Amino acid sequence: MEKHRKYIIAGNWKMNKTAGESVELAEGVVKEVGDQTVVEAVLCPPFTSLDSVATVVEDSPVKLGGQNMHPAASGAYTGEVSAEMLRFFYASYVILGHSERREYFKESDAFINEKVLAAFANNLKPILCVGESLEERESGSTLQVVETQTRGGLANVTNEDAESLVVAYEPVWAIGTGKTATPEMAQEVHAAIRGILTDLFGSEIAQKIRIQYGGSMKGSNAKELLSQTDIDGGLIGGASLDAKSFAEIINAARELEEAE
Ligand code: PEP
Repeated sequence: MEKHRKYIIAGNWKMNKTAGESVELAEGVVKEVGDQTVVEAVLCPPFTSLDSVATVVEDSPVKLGGQNMHPAASGAYTGEVSAEMLRFFYASYVILGHSERREYFKESDAFINEKVLAAFANNLKPILCVGESLEERESGSTLQVVETQTRGGLANVTNEDAESLVVAYEPVWAIGTGKTATPEMAQEVHAAIRGILTDLFGSEIAQKIRIQYGGSMKGSNAKELLSQTDIDGGLIGGASLDAKSFAEIINAARELEEAE
């Protein structure tokens, strides 16, 4: 089976690690990744660690990302950071619309869409997170929820920009709970997302867009998830806080890629 899409494994450190602790973790990841570029590895530390992690990953293939950003270029938005501020540290990616932002900070699809457009305008690749709650899955509305979030988050995105987009399907009930969607459950939603992307941007571009799975992915379940046709990587929370656990997921992707 040939996917033609490079696996992308991104670590979302959330609100963990001081700038000092981040150096040690980033150094561990850089060492584990070595000079391999078969799988794209991305670290998304807290804002306060971007500077120190940027220095560690500078001469390595490991890329840097933010966990969030504000759509405005600058101004009176206490506590927020802009795309330009992320780019200053050579961040390549930014996670947008994570379920924790949607739930605890009441971010709407319209606001997330503003961020997506601002990210592209500043040469940052968005990792747009979508996913249903347990209640929504149990009521049978998973595909509808994911479609609304995907279309809402991607309004007015051009075909040209869409090629560098990453979408992360993260069922909320699987995040940090140890519960993982079965590979079949995840594949069903990933295929539906690719269908929406095809409708929005055409088949050629939709085939290039990477769709990550997120939700308790770890070394022991990574391979079966990543081997699904439309699963092109992982957005990793808990398991990204340890260099060896994170590397196990990268290595699973690498083995699949090399077996193709
Ligand atoms: C996440 O929050 O993006 C995530 C996938 O977390 P975890 O791996 O801990 O479930």
